[in-house]
Amino acid sequence: MAKYDCMKCPGYCCSYPVIEITGRDVARLGRHFGITAPEAQAKFTKKAHGRERVLRRKDDPHFGRICRFFDTEARRCTVYKARPGICRQFPGESRCGYYDFLKFEREHQKDADYVATTDSGMFR
Ligand code: SF4
Ligand code: SF4
Repeated sequence: MAKYDCMKCPGYCCSYPVIEITGRDVARLGRHFGITAPEAQAKFTKKAHGRERVLRRKDDPHFGRICRFFDTEARRCTVYKARPGICRQFPGESRCGYYDFLKFEREHQKDADYVATTDSGMFR
């Protein structure tokens, strides 16, 4: 059973700079938005970090930059049903390291809404 709760998290994993996607992911996103796969590839992805295709990003008040599909106010994915395979697999085990840290800090600081940001040292 999962020992983390994404609904109580500000979406740290969506701020990773490298969210690598496959041709299948691009095709799924294209279908979701009613555009062709090449259009989806050009619009939503770029070559970066030595990878063939990663998701484009945008500014975020908590983490500096975050996935372009992330709603920075509601703190959730806007393409959940069409999200890439790598997002479906993460964190791939019953624990999420960021969530463990966040839970510890929230209990320690007695602040249920505390958000560990990229400025807090651990997550640069
Ligand atoms: S960082 Fe962990 S808890 Fe937060 S949204 Fe991602 S998987 Fe969920
Ligand atoms: S597609 Fe959705 S789940 Fe994946 S990184 Fe972007 S906002 Fe997060």
